[in-house]
Amino acid sequence: MATLEQLGTVVETDLLVVGFGISGLAAAITAKEENAGLKVLAVDKGCVGYAGKANKGGGHVAFIPEGAEELYVEYHTRNCGDYLNDQDLIRKYAHSTVKTMDRWASWGVNFIGREHAGQAHAVIPWKVCIVDNDIMIPMAKTARKLGVEFREKITITDLLKEGDKVVGAFGFSLLTGETYIFKAKAVVMACGDQNFRIMRMWNSGRGDGIAAAYRAGAKMRNAEFGSFMNIMSAEHKLVAYGAEDALVNAKGENCSERADLDPSLKSVVGGVDLGGSQSVLMYLEVRDGKGPIFEDTTKNGFPTSFVGRNLCNLTGPPDPPFRRPTSEKFWARIMEKKHAGYRNEGTLKEVIPGVVGEFSPLYVDHDYATSVTGLFASGDICGCGGGWAGAVPTPPGRNRGSGLMHAVMTAIFAATTAAKYAAAASLGNVDADQVAKLKEETYAPLKRMKQGTTTHEVVREIGEIMQPVAYSGYKSEERLKEALDRVLVLKAKLPNLVAKDPHDLSSANECRSMVLCAEMFYRTSIERKESRGWHMREDYKTRDDKNGANWIVVQDKGGEMNLTLDPLPMDRYKYKPE
Ligand SMILES: Cc1cc2nc3c(=O)[nH]c(=O)nc-3n(C[C@H](O)[C@H](O)[C@H](O)COP(=O)(O)OP(=O)(O)OC[C@H]3O[C@@H](n4cnc5c(N)ncnc54)[C@H](O)[C@@H]3O)c2cc1C
Repeated sequence: MATLEQLGTVVETDLLVVGFGISGLAAAITAKEENAGLKVLAVDKGCVGYAGKANKGGGHVAFIPEGAEELYVEYHTRNCGDYLNDQDLIRKYAHSTVKTMDRWASWGVNFIGREHAGQAHAVIPWKVCIVDNDIMIPMAKTARKLGVEFREKITITDLLKEGDKVVGAFGFSLLTGETYIFKAKAVVMACGDQNFRIMRMWNSGRGDGIAAAYRAGAKMRNAEFGSFMNIMSAEHKLVAYGAEDALVNAKGENCSERADLDPSLKSVVGGVDLGGSQSVLMYLEVRDGKGPIFEDTTKNGFPTSFVGRNLCNLTGPPDPPFRRPTSEKFWARIMEKKHAGYRNEGTLKEVIPGVVGEFSPLYVDHDYATSVTGLFASGDICGCGGGWAGAVPTPPGRNRGSGLMHAVMTAIFAATTAAKYAAAASLGNVDADQVAKLKEETYAPLKRMKQGTTTHEVVREIGEIMQPVAYSGYKSEERLKEALDRVLVLKAKLPNLVAKDPHDLSSANECRSMVLCAEMFYRTSIERKESRGWHMREDYKTRDDKNGANWIVVQDKGGEMNLTLDPLPMDRYKYKPE
């Protein structure tokens, strides 16, 4: 039998942080601040200061001003979470945003407009300020200064266990293919969510962490809410900001609203903040023979609005108080790409729904521990699984600016818990047999014949299964089963995956993860027989408060996807459905 050292490079640490996007960086910094003596190592497929989504064009940071927290909790529960949210956790969120910004600022981050933050919502005093897109650089410097160690260009494919406890992680170098075996007292998963590789700017969310945690036995929750939709241009395939309010069908009729819409859909479509679910309206128009759908650019006031101009940089440099040099360069380049992508000069631009996904079901408790001993999580990966936001894809749900806030806040929670746990734990035993088996399975696509299934084929097919609104946006038993059957056909092809090199091998692992996430999404969507929040069923049009007030929990049981119901503690929650 081979020893660990013969199987790969063995690295020991107290705390392993998987992923150093903004949440991983914040977790690593927090762990060092909580316990300077702890050895903290962060590993990512990308490079320090640049990995992840935080620098991909956004930069809105949401916070709830002191005194307004309960208003936010009530409003969100009733209007966004649709009573499926963990009311204790959302209260913790609401009371922690200001404290999070203070700690975050101490890591060198500059909040632009914090003192005069914009009102982000018509009813609740929920505020938004901005950060520049180089936000990760000062955070990375702070982490290095505190002694955090980094390993770049390594993908983690699986977690290592001793009995019921996580004792490390297995991965390989994207550059050389070399195997890495990380031994750790505690692991924080901060490796993002699943976006199914459909929308370009969300391309990095490939769900490997969700899949690794699932295979390690971790509980998943709210998987049926992972299909956030945006509207994109059919020509340049980038987001068409504000198009949702300026839609016209092929007959020239306004279709941003429909008078004959089911009341059950009205709470979602054209809802409070993000109008992504206008995709359902678009679908209904097309189904009625009135497609394709266009954005009437003369009617779209968003690019020139205060937010469009100053916070999204859609029309060139913003007003002086909102200058962000890095973001401005980024947006100038995006705008160039958009204009180069247009095939017609007219004011009507064809638009289509685009699945962003934000599938993020890793369950965590109120201290951001998962259901597996030694395993913690923060950021996008546990957005829905944490349960605070309820029946909405998270982030962003309808909380523009909550993605970054949630990533940093939950990193502080998770790393504080994990640092305490690691300080009291000792390194576990990593079983060489487990590693040898993982190595054989993980590297198999490199050894297969060229005629197998390519990663490109799987990515394309997953797009075709997740993208149709009829499957993932406006659901029905029949269509969900059809989509699930397609997922299972694809799953059967996975043992035949081929990979050309270590990068493609990482892609092969991502394909496994995408198929697993799609299966989980469709199985849980079939199970939830009601319409609630962003889960819209044509065959069950209303919310079922009697049977629906359950979280659907998914767990691997002997290789099978097992679904159970976990009732919400409605008796003790303050806000109840009328
Ligand atoms: C275009 C765009 C605009 C946005 N705008 C805003 C906004 O204005 N305001 C807001 O609040 N939020 C916004 N968001 C969301 C916000 O950026 C995210 O919520 C936040 O960055 C998530 O941070 P994270 O660290 O949890 O995940 P990520 O940023 O996704 O980081 C995860 C990291 O894990 C790494 N990783 C993944 N798998 C593995 C693996 N197997 N092994 C090793 N490493 C791995 C990835 O390479 C990545 O670096 C936007 C997102 C996008 C894409």
